[in-house]
Amino acid sequence: MTLAPYACHPSRSRGRRHPQPPAPTRTEYQRDRDRIVHSSAFRRLVYKTQVFLNHEGDMFRTRLTHSLEVAQLGRAIARALALNEDLVEAIALAHDLGHTPFGHAGQDALHECMAAHGGFEHNLQSLRVVDCLEQRYPAHDGLNLTFETREGILKHCSAANARLLERAEPGGVARRFLDSTQPSLEAQLTNLADEIAYNAHDIDDGVRSGLLTLEQVAQVPLFARFHAQTLGEYPALSGRRLLYESIRRMLSAQVYDVIDATRAALATARPGSADAARAAGPLVRFGDEMRAQSTALKRFLFANLYRHPQVMDTTNRARQVVRELFDIYRARPAELPAHFAARPNRERAVADFIAGMTDRFALREHERLTGQRLLGG
Ligand code: MG
Repeated sequence: MTLAPYACHPSRSRGRRHPQPPAPTRTEYQRDRDRIVHSSAFRRLVYKTQVFLNHEGDMFRTRLTHSLEVAQLGRAIARALALNEDLVEAIALAHDLGHTPFGHAGQDALHECMAAHGGFEHNLQSLRVVDCLEQRYPAHDGLNLTFETREGILKHCSAANARLLERAEPGGVARRFLDSTQPSLEAQLTNLADEIAYNAHDIDDGVRSGLLTLEQVAQVPLFARFHAQTLGEYPALSGRRLLYESIRRMLSAQVYDVIDATRAALATARPGSADAARAAGPLVRFGDEMRAQSTALKRFLFANLYRHPQVMDTTNRARQVVRELFDIYRARPAELPAHFAARPNRERAVADFIAGMTDRFALREHERLTGQRLLGG
């Protein structure tokens, strides 16, 4: 597969923080992907919440299956645009490594706990996982990934944290937040694949859980279009198969829309290299109509699923678990594993330890330390 001139070419990578000789048979980004798959943070994604808590059912998405879906969608788009599929896959598989247990509830709680100590951002935490927290190599911390994979992992970053990162790594992955340039096209693409994936699978999981009805989702214009189209072809179809076929068509339409709109943007901007693409403003995009419809779907899911009273109830308990764990470990560092207890910045050590937990480990720890079981069987 020939890469476009604006793709990230592994031979032109800005390299690793700890230089290493090339691998005999794998490109640099394939190597990054392999390191991510073998990391312990990656294995823990299987027991981390996406929207529904892990114990609520075996059929719901977890952070792991979500990441695999992002990788699949991202690779399909990358292939069509002659971008680097391996880099997209590496970024997709790593993009949620920094997520706390219990999804956004856990993250919000940890951010509040850390308010006076630099806060907590999950994108930055994903970078911390691959840069610092994985301990697999004799001579350095982290996975020592390439600049391009790390750049894609750091999807958002506050200005204050960007300045801190820039000080530690001048001209590094945080620079773009200070000079307002874009990450690589592969990173932009993975970000959009993330949105396409969760919009679609949250409809599926929402209806499966009974918190959303098919009739309710069929009021949302983007879904309504494919729901009507499916019923036009299969008037007798109902239930699961109607839901799946509508989602399948919606996914395909979004993928083709991104491919078409991005091709048009690339044809206008004509970047001659990956760096020219970074400087050209956001180029991987939906067309205007799809952008509006995707945003409307996001808003619908936010109001009707993420803020559903039943989800809010578990969310509130999950926040309590995280808050109480934070307070206990902070007051009693002997309860932490030794290498976390030994770190000089206690609050950051506690945040790193909690962020790395799976849902079920966090609940077990909380029960061990408080005698209370707040969630799950
Ligand atoms: Mg994601």
